[in-house]
Amino acid sequence: MENCLFCKIVAGEIPSNKVYEDEDVFAFHDINPNAPVHVLVIPKPHIPSIAAVSGENIETVSRVLLAIPKIASSLGLDEGGYRVITNCGEDAGQTVHHLHFHILGGKKLPVSLG
Ligand code: AMP
Ligand code: ZN
Repeated sequence: MENCLFCKIVAGEIPSNKVYEDEDVFAFHDINPNAPVHVLVIPKPHIPSIAAVSGENIETVSRVLLAIPKIASSLGLDEGGYRVITNCGEDAGQTVHHLHFHILGGKKLPVSLG
């Protein structure tokens, strides 16, 4: 996908602080962290948002979901816990239109989500 920031990160065209990679999944530290630990977990293929999850790509997406708790463990978040968020569309404030799950942790997070 041309001009997609996260596709460029997966391709290594834009540098990132990588924390995990497998055949289908890539994870890296958020450039503007909202918590002591703030990592983004993405599918390698371009999927615009959770609204575009379908029978065609569910296997890839399921591998992203399987990776999330492993990555959280590797970041030391098992004991304290963590939050997983995906923004979809304008009202949610999605700024990068390549599906990504935020893992946030390392502090007591605010209870309010909306
Ligand atoms: P969202 O607002 O849910 O679309 O999240 C996009 C996230 O990508 C934000 O938290 C940004 O800080 C983060 N971000 C933008 N550019 C980069 C980058 N080059 N490397 C790492 N994270 C980025
Ligand atoms: Zn993309």
